[in-house]
Amino acid sequence: MSYMGSPLSCLRETNSMSQRELYRAVNANIVGLLDRFDSGLPESTLELLCECGRSECTERVSLSRDEYKRARSAGAHFLATSGHALPAVERVILDNGRYSVVKLASKT
Ligand SMILES: [Zn+2]
Repeated sequence: MSYMGSPLSCLRETNSMSQRELYRAVNANIVGLLDRFDSGLPESTLELLCECGRSECTERVSLSRDEYKRARSAGAHFLATSGHALPAVERVILDNGRYSVVKLASKT
């Protein structure tokens, strides 16, 4: 009997993800579900998880689905509450006072 694809292997995968990657995946799921069921207006405000990566962070990021998609279309960025970027490791692409779009700084 093969254990390939058992729930355990999924769990292991989740554990190896950083918290912010997990939160980003959760946020993407929320938006994906809204898209699928076409619930809410594109400009209505979503409350998503802050992806700053601080383990103690419980902030919510308020932005519309349109804003979310614009932020995501630029690449593998993270969404964080305004002021939650970590300047030591990140570059802020955008900060409009409500949320920030941040990018991991390259190690060059
Ligand atoms: Zn945060």
